[in-house]
Amino acid sequence: MSFSKEILVHHGRECPYCHGMMRVPFRKKRAQNTDNFPTRDHVIPKSVMPGMGTLIVCRKCNTDKRNYTLPEWYELLKNQCDARATIIKDFMKKQWFKKLNLTENKC
Ligand SMILES: [Zn+2]
Repeated sequence: MSFSKEILVHHGRECPYCHGMMRVPFRKKRAQNTDNFPTRDHVIPKSVMPGMGTLIVCRKCNTDKRNYTLPEWYELLKNQCDARATIIKDFMKKQWFKKLNLTENKC
């Protein structure tokens, strides 16, 4: 497994979805299983809207988000009282989703 330069520069940076620190482990073999390894997320899945841009996020968030769009994932997290819901909401407000009518997090 080789790490691209782009992934490497995200070592020590915050995941935009959970604010956890992303890490590229010293031992490459371990990277595949670590939750905080930087991975590329298609913010809006290619199947829904191609070319909407990508973000580097931690593996755990990327895995949990699966093929949801950000607003869909937000609703899911909110219903599960996941702490990331608040972060995602703020993130969407700052980014492409300014005009969305987001329901409040009641947790
Ligand atoms: Zn994350």
